[in-house]
Amino acid sequence: MNIKKNKSLLEFNTFGVESTVAHYLKIATEEDLYDSIKYVEKNRLKYFFLGGGSNILLTSEKYNMAALHIQTSGIEIIDEDDESITIRCAAGEKWDDVVAFSVERGLGGIENMSLIPGTIGAAPIQNIGAYGQELKDTFVEARVLLTDTKKTVDISNEECNFGYRDSIFKKELKDKAVILYVTLKLRKNPKLNYSYKGVREIIFVRGDEQVTVKEIRNAIIQLRTEKLPDPAILGNAGSFFKNPEILEESYNILKRFSPEIEGFKTKDGKVKLSAAKLIELSGWKGRREGNCGVYENHSLVLVNYGGAKGSEIASVAKKIINDVFETFGIKLTAEVNFF
Ligand code: FAD
Ligand code: NAP
Repeated sequence: MNIKKNKSLLEFNTFGVESTVAHYLKIATEEDLYDSIKYVEKNRLKYFFLGGGSNILLTSEKYNMAALHIQTSGIEIIDEDDESITIRCAAGEKWDDVVAFSVERGLGGIENMSLIPGTIGAAPIQNIGAYGQELKDTFVEARVLLTDTKKTVDISNEECNFGYRDSIFKKELKDKAVILYVTLKLRKNPKLNYSYKGVREIIFVRGDEQVTVKEIRNAIIQLRTEKLPDPAILGNAGSFFKNPEILEESYNILKRFSPEIEGFKTKDGKVKLSAAKLIELSGWKGRREGNCGVYENHSLVLVNYGGAKGSEIASVAKKIINDVFETFGIKLTAEVNFF
């Protein structure tokens, strides 16, 4: 276990917000994790877990606590049958390296989630998803250390209670569990999903005769690279807000007053609204306030133009929530985790 005092977290959060933490603990092995828990308890420190820092907003410039940075590694095949291959990944593995591992072997299930930043250990927290795939569709279980009892337990897919950008780790187990390993079951005969227009368009234009998981991955990499700001250049944490889900009757009424809003029917009979469109129609597209604002090419992404404090970004987010509520009567909720 590597411990540093008064460490800057600038390079560990994709928003590029400057903030220091009193104790920074680098966790490269499972043993490091157990040692770090002993360390924080012995020193009576409050603490938080950090993965790739791509879904957090550091609202304080100084944290008098400990950051436990999960950097464990390893992907292993643990089971195989005629239809599937099961892999077990250490929490600190980069998510996109796991996708590459799967796609290189022609396996299906996570290719549409190519290029999502961060670690696989954080993926179950909000049940990551993109372009019609979600983690829950391939997730088998997570090995978790419960920080109060110090017990290591396996939490199954069902027990995770996955929802849209949601899981048990954001509710009952919030701040009570650290994920050590994630197990995924990948299909040998992939069921390809190109339901999203952008993906279809790229594949259609290329005229690929036999679409493979590799082609889907390439199309998604192209789309994301063209559309989303690169955090290395412009600080951001991806979608700042969740897409709100409303009743179909409410959607029909809303659509009469505001025909431009976009909605997609969900499996449980509701309508998922495009939060980006609501923000745009509330006048926030490309709007800048000080060092931060709404990205000009994507209204769901808040960006740090350089030197923005986490509290400034939080305050812009609050104004957006208020304006969308005043315009549409819909309360946006943050997808990003506030620290
Ligand atoms: P962090 O930001 O480090 O942490 C997120 C939360 O998880 C924190 O609460 C942290 O305490 C907790 N945590 C981290 N590791 C562990 C662990 N091992 N055990 C317990 N708790 C832990 N998300 C999507 O769902 N779909 C997308 O398409 C998508 N696109 C994105 C595009 C960009 C450009 C960016 C910047 C972000 C995007 N995101 C997307 C959000 C983000 O990448 C994901 O939520 C990702 O899973 C976060 O991983 P992380 O390792 O960076 O987590
Ligand atoms: P997009 O393709 O322009 O779509 C806009 C919105 O419409 C999205 O919110 C998407 O919902 C929804 N949508 C589009 N086609 C759909 C379909 N066929 N079925 C159901 N819903 C549909 O979105 P985008 O912003 O460029 O992002 C593309 C994908 O990457 C999306 O899945 C998005 O969630 C994901 N993404 C996520 C983040 C993040 O940080 N969470 C950041 C960037 C991109 P969904 O969002 O529910 O898919």
